[in-house]
Amino acid sequence: MHKLLALPGPTLDPPFCPRPGCVHHLSPVEQSWFERDGHHETRAFGSVPRFRCKACGRNFSTQTFRVDYYAKKVVDYREFEELLASSMSGRALGRHFGLSPDSVQNRVDRLSRQALAVHSHLRAFADPREPVAIDGFQSFDRSQFFPNNITISVAGDSRFLLEATHATLRRSGSMTTDQKAKRAAHDRAVAYEASAIERSFAELLDQLARDRPPRKDQPLVLVTDLKKEYTSALAAHPLGSLGKDRVARVLVSSRKPRTGWNPLFPVNYWDRELRKDQAAHRRETTCHARSASNGMARFWCYARYHNYRKRYLVGSRGNDRRKHADVAGIPKGVRLGLEGLFYQARAFFSRSSLTTPGMRAWLKLFPTPGTDWIGRIPAYALD
Ligand SMILES: [Zn+2]
Repeated sequence: MHKLLALPGPTLDPPFCPRPGCVHHLSPVEQSWFERDGHHETRAFGSVPRFRCKACGRNFSTQTFRVDYYAKKVVDYREFEELLASSMSGRALGRHFGLSPDSVQNRVDRLSRQALAVHSHLRAFADPREPVAIDGFQSFDRSQFFPNNITISVAGDSRFLLEATHATLRRSGSMTTDQKAKRAAHDRAVAYEASAIERSFAELLDQLARDRPPRKDQPLVLVTDLKKEYTSALAAHPLGSLGKDRVARVLVSSRKPRTGWNPLFPVNYWDRELRKDQAAHRRETTCHARSASNGMARFWCYARYHNYRKRYLVGSRGNDRRKHADVAGIPKGVRLGLEGLFYQARAFFSRSSLTTPGMRAWLKLFPTPGTDWIGRIPAYALD
């Protein structure tokens, strides 16, 4: 049984108790920890065997362990993921799969939780010697009055995305008189987060400190632009006190040409990919995110697709089938061990080693500016 994702076995025996905190949750401690409890009939999945945990009394079925738990309609998640990663809008996805807008979002949310769990597990295997480029990707939620900053960290040559978090910023730049009046109205209604960029940068540093702690013979090399928020966030972070022989920061002016030679190329590359492949981030888009958390759910679906499915070298270079994850040093066997389960075995919050931004994305806690709307998530997604 895989310690992250697992399905009922060939005789339909459940792999673990689905209740977080139960002694049989992470891994059953006895062989006969459950008893059979009949069947129930479903329209989408037919007759489903039911069980009861002898330790905590929780009732569940084989469906409890499936990505499609509680879904009324089965979709091909591989295809769904691919179309979502090819700039298809939510409406177009709904037409293609015969789903309502809410059901499309429901499938995006399911896929994003799978992505967060699997990526949190696999990125710890990435080679810690690659330099890490960090920068903010600018887009917007709700309307152009609410620019956001999705700060991302990307490993050097592999262009493997490590971590991402979201912040809402106050709109700046040139505006018409009309737009200025509108912004003033928003300013009265919206509380902007203080030090949002510093907080975002620190969250990305947390992941690096956890998954690739720098050592003397293996320093962490950070590549960033000259933002002073990054300087103060690094100074205040535990990584900032380790000394330059362990944590080295390479500063690159954001005015430098955005070529492959630029040390910020990994984040510039992601900027281009996101604008090309994500309907929400296309220039002059009408498909922008209506909610910050829905936007981040789509972001993680895309990041997982790009890291683990998309080929590293696209185009004319022949037989190189390596994924970005392979180039980042994640053992192929480890990646493939989760590939089939990814679309089938439901990821559990309590069994996933999520970081703070990962938890926020899973629980849909990125606030949408000017609304009291944080995400809605079903009770089972809290397991
Ligand atoms: Zn139990």
